[in-house]
Parts: sequence; C-alpha cells; structure tokens
Amino acid sequence: MKKFIVFCVSAIIFGCSKGSDSDVETQNIVTPTTPPVVVPPPAPPEPDFDNDSIYSSTSYNDLYTYWIAFQKTASLFDVDLSYIEDVVIQSGTRNGTTMASAEGSCHDYIYIVVDESRFRNAETAERIFTMYHEFGHDIFNASHAGGGLMAPNVRELDYKLFQTEVSDFFNKVDFVEWTDEECEQIREITEPYPG
Ligand SMILES: [Zn+2]
Repeated sequence: MKKFIVFCVSAIIFGCSKGSDSDVETQNIVTPTTPPVVVPPPAPPEPDFDNDSIYSSTSYNDLYTYWIAFQKTASLFDVDLSYIEDVVIQSGTRNGTTMASAEGSCHDYIYIVVDESRFRNAETAERIFTMYHEFGHDIFNASHAGGGLMAPNVRELDYKLFQTEVSDFFNKVDFVEWTDEECEQIREITEPYPG
C-alpha cells in the first residue's frame, strides 16, 4: 500500500513537469525571435562631372562659373589665381570654327570668347575641358605642344582621365609655354580686349 502511494505521487510530479515543458514550447511558438535585418549602407556614387564638388557648380548659363571652378581647381595645386581681376568671358565666335578661343593669350588679361550655340549643345565634360583648356592658354600661355589638357582637339573626356590631365598640367608634367616668337604672332591675331 505504501509503495502504491509513492508511485502515485511520482506520477503526479512527473505529469506536472511534463505540463511545464509543454507550456514553454507553446510560448516559443507564440513569440518567435526574429533575426535582426542588417541593411548595408548605400555605396557612394561614382565620382563624375555632375557630382564633383567643383565641376557641378558650373553652368553654361553663367560662363563665369567656369572661371570660379578653374580658380578652385588651381588652388588644389597651391596655385593662387585670386589676384587676377581683368577677366572677360563673353559670347562670340572666331570664324565659326572653334567652340571657344583664348583671346587674352600672351596678354596680361583674360579674355575668352565662347560660341554659346555650340557650347550649350556640348556634353558637360566637353564644356569643362574646353574652358579649362582656354584658361590654360590665356592664364599660363600654355601651347598645344604640352599635350594632355592642352592637346588641340576639343573632346569629351572620362572623369578620371580628365583629373589626371588637369593634375599633369598644374604639376607641369604636360606643359609647354609658348615661345616669345609665338606670342608675338598670337598678339597680332587676337581680338582687342573689350574690358
Ligand atoms: Zn587650344
């Protein structure tokens, strides 16, 4: 009789503990743990002419924005152009053959003439290349012989290649100045300064 009671008590205890396990399983089903979703940060955009902090501020509606951009680029190479005050950039053509010309070449002023009808239809990269090329002539008396930025053909450039050409220009890797003789000839054919 004593043994029978012990058995019943064991059965009750066992039954209770089984019931507890069942409750825990039920709770697990009701509140499943959700694994945290890790969202990677968006990759930064590839740098190009349209999102570059200097080039993106240029606009063909205001040709002087190219002068401001060129000054900023020059400052990256420790070249200070802020002392230059006589700057005229205006719409016009040189025999209708070029998109822009540096009429201030070999003079102590900057005078760039831009064929705006062609300029507006050019790609962003082509516009920036053209203006930087003309500033190269006008401010530094750089000739086409240096190649790179000063190569004579107006062209659209890949952003990274353009960065290299600009760097090579300011670091004098690709830079050949006009001779005095060439400057004499240039002064004979350039337009008179309107400023
Ligand atoms: Zn040129």
